[in-house]
Amino acid sequence: LSHGRVWNFSAGPSVLPMSVLEEVQHDLLNYKGQGMSVLEMSHRSKVYGNIISDAEATLRRVLKVPDNYSVLFLQGGGTGEFAASYLNLMASKAVREKQRKLGKPLKCDYLITGGWSKSGLKEVKRLGANANVVLDGVKSPSTGETVYNSLPPVSEWKLSKPEETAYVYYCENETVHGVETPANFVVDAVDPSVPVICDMSSNMLSRPVDVSRFGAIVAGAQKNMGPAGVSIVIVRKDLLERDESDPEVTRNLPSVLDWCYFDGAGSMPHTPPTFSIYVCGLVFKWAEAQGLEALSKLRDERSNMVYDEIDAHPEFFNGLVDKKYRSSMNLVFTLPTPELEAKFIAEAAERNMVQLKGHRSLGGIRISLYNAMPVEGARAFVDFMKEFYDKNH
Ligand code: PLP
Repeated sequence: LSHGRVWNFSAGPSVLPMSVLEEVQHDLLNYKGQGMSVLEMSHRSKVYGNIISDAEATLRRVLKVPDNYSVLFLQGGGTGEFAASYLNLMASKAVREKQRKLGKPLKCDYLITGGWSKSGLKEVKRLGANANVVLDGVKSPSTGETVYNSLPPVSEWKLSKPEETAYVYYCENETVHGVETPANFVVDAVDPSVPVICDMSSNMLSRPVDVSRFGAIVAGAQKNMGPAGVSIVIVRKDLLERDESDPEVTRNLPSVLDWCYFDGAGSMPHTPPTFSIYVCGLVFKWAEAQGLEALSKLRDERSNMVYDEIDAHPEFFNGLVDKKYRSSMNLVFTLPTPELEAKFIAEAAERNMVQLKGHRSLGGIRISLYNAMPVEGARAFVDFMKEFYDKNH
């Protein structure tokens, strides 16, 4: 690989497109004749104003974001949006009116499909949400324990009654457990009157999405979209309407988590993560040049290649997730023994393949194949799997 680079299978922060890194490098000392780097530039300058508005406009084109949605850049990562999505939804006029009509707290419905939706639920419980668990993984047939490697059938989901629900929340790609729900799978199961909030931190921009089906889409950028430090929120504008005469509305909503505060100020009510947004803008242009359909085909090509190898030797490479829900972004599997896993990771490193270790809560192997991973990277990994199998099975 050029520049002594390695195949980086990190779950995040993760690989960026080479052409983006080169452009950043080229413009680092003197951004387009400004005599300074974007790192050193005032967010109130005209030049930076163009950088952030271009980034937003490009993302809108790539994802075909309808005009009745706001696109916001915030800080606080994916974790910040666990709290923000709850606090903003509960402050919205429509939700408060619904609650007043019902005469008791509305339910916040959570689908627990893995570690990240679990963390989302934990956060809102801490804030006092009237949470309802729609589903919590599945029971392992052998141990009876709750495991996150599949979803129960929709007929078993415990969705609250639409008139009693503030919103439904889920995570579309569970980065740790490698569980990804098919496009529109959840929105199809939810009453259209109920806003669906989706955490797309680790699969946004990897396939087309019908934004109009969602109340809000939230994501940390550092996996498939750019560097750490910025989170992206796409929210239906009617959910940002508030009854400003009611002081209770924003009582517990800090400004830095307040989507309206950002919406009213072009995402710059205070200093934004300027450099991260700039790099995201370049990634959005890179994604636009290829198109989401093409990116989606590439994502399938990369992940199918690896899953085919897993499926070819299931007694050796143990894919942990039900085939219907296995992720194209984060692929998790185990080898027959922890010793073989350690050897696998060490020998991969000798071939310049790094960050293969499964999440500390799960063990095993996890490789992340985000947009910026060339197909050659996945192929190199598969070649290594074959070689390792031949020598060690
Ligand atoms: N949601 C998902 C799906 C994630 O993968 C992560 C981080 O890995 C988060 C939320 C939390 O993001 P952050 O670390 O930016 O708070």
